[in-house]
Amino acid sequence: MTITVRSALAKTIEPREYRMFINGQWVEASGGGTMTRESPAHDVTVSVYPEGTAADLDAAVAAARRAFEDGRWSGLSGADRATVLLETARLIRERLEDLAFVETLESGKPISQSRGEIGGAAGIFEYAAGQARALHGDSFNNLGDGMLGLVTREPIGVVGVITPWNFPFFILSERVPFILAAGCAMVVKPSEFTSGTTLMLAGILKEAGLPDGVYNVVTGVGPVVGQAMTEHDDVDMVSFTGSTAVGQRTLQASAGNIKKIGLELGGKNPQIVFADADLDAAADGVVFGICFNAGQCCVSGSRLVVERSVADEFEALVVDKISRLHVGDPLDEATQVGAIVDDRQQAKIIGLIGEGQSAGAKILCGGQALDAGAGRFIAPTVFSGVTGDMSIAREEIFGPVLSVLRFDSFDEALRIANDTCYGLAGSIWTADLKRALRAMRQLRAGRLWINTTITGGPEMPIGGFKQSGIGRETGAYGVEEYTEIKSVHIDLGERGPWVD
Ligand code: NDP
Repeated sequence: MTITVRSALAKTIEPREYRMFINGQWVEASGGGTMTRESPAHDVTVSVYPEGTAADLDAAVAAARRAFEDGRWSGLSGADRATVLLETARLIRERLEDLAFVETLESGKPISQSRGEIGGAAGIFEYAAGQARALHGDSFNNLGDGMLGLVTREPIGVVGVITPWNFPFFILSERVPFILAAGCAMVVKPSEFTSGTTLMLAGILKEAGLPDGVYNVVTGVGPVVGQAMTEHDDVDMVSFTGSTAVGQRTLQASAGNIKKIGLELGGKNPQIVFADADLDAAADGVVFGICFNAGQCCVSGSRLVVERSVADEFEALVVDKISRLHVGDPLDEATQVGAIVDDRQQAKIIGLIGEGQSAGAKILCGGQALDAGAGRFIAPTVFSGVTGDMSIAREEIFGPVLSVLRFDSFDEALRIANDTCYGLAGSIWTADLKRALRAMRQLRAGRLWINTTITGGPEMPIGGFKQSGIGRETGAYGVEEYTEIKSVHIDLGERGPWVD
């Protein structure tokens, strides 16, 4: 494994100072407070944001409400909305380098990966532009001669969006263009660590022609701004992405005005490897699945469920591939595994590694933090001999830590794979198509891959079973999620009188 951090390079970077975006204006926080963000890979301050308050959130919600009610966006045709979304995609591609640079500095993810995510995000805006034009309702012409039924879709109203730090721009882009395609207005509360690109998108949307007040951003901390958003009586829906614990709090807080809630939460996703799989390709996929974004993905494949007859050989393949990874400075073009997002996350990962050791699992590689001179990094870690009751088999570690569990039969593989409170994602590796499809049917998770992992496009919906969430984002479902349905009964004949 090669480890590099050239912190001297980053020390030449001037911090960027941002303002929040409310009603089309760049504003300071009403309380005058600011927050700073250090690059988790280089330990230098890279961003300064306003520390928003509940009053700022109120102002942003009021702006979104006005924009929604007067029809400046909700009243436009799908074609006009699509024009703005397509121009946004063009501008994102034009500014790709700058967006990717900020994303890497704030999140610690490799620069090559950031570029891929920003380009992918532009593609989502293009796809959603099509959805803005395709969105439609239904009709019932089978209700008898005297009745025609129409089912119309309307924008749900003002949407609150709360996003995490692991894919700041990509997760945002899995929601924002669909919310806009549906005709809604919104207020976004980005992660306090990674608010830069969410604010940069505000400038891009304005330039692309989005009316003021439709997209607002309030930066600040979750327990203040996020909590106020989920409790707010004038917010019609909240789309939350993050931990299951805060997701549960979001559900409770939403009870006041019975707002609709979309949740994309955690996962403890299985990678099932059958003995007949192409083991080298599967090992590559398993390493990618746990090391991509340093394991800080809701869909990270953190449990390897491997058939016992090939388990020793497969573990050796995985360890060998991990030994050849480039870990370190995310600004280095060659880096594949970047930094851990902050000290708390680093401590959580190290703590769970310790729990795995204490429970008797065996470390095959990694197991410790890496000293790269600056920043926080963890050596990709593989635990063998894991049993289903260990915390490393049950808890979402959100770091590059793989737990290996072995099985002897198809049924046992599926039982182990489904033995979790989560149901976000899973991968199946086998050369037998029938076996793959039988496993696919039995896996209780929202997003599956067969002989691949962590890939996809905006056509495919995302979301979880069980405690991994509620609702779906992206695809045709992604825009429908932000609509209300109305049933309209039209009497075409003589309505029989009720009162003589
Ligand atoms: P959180 O769930 O705390 O944060 C996600 C978002 O929610 C952030 O914008 C956060 O704001 C906000 N938030 C925090 N508290 C509240 C609240 N009371 N009401 C409304 N919004 C709130 O995740 P963490 O960043 O703390 O990560 C902890 C764990 O969560 C990780 O270890 C991982 O297991 C999981 N996680 C899962 C993700 C996923 O994609 N499924 C993404 C990120 C984390 P702020 O930034 O100010 O804290």
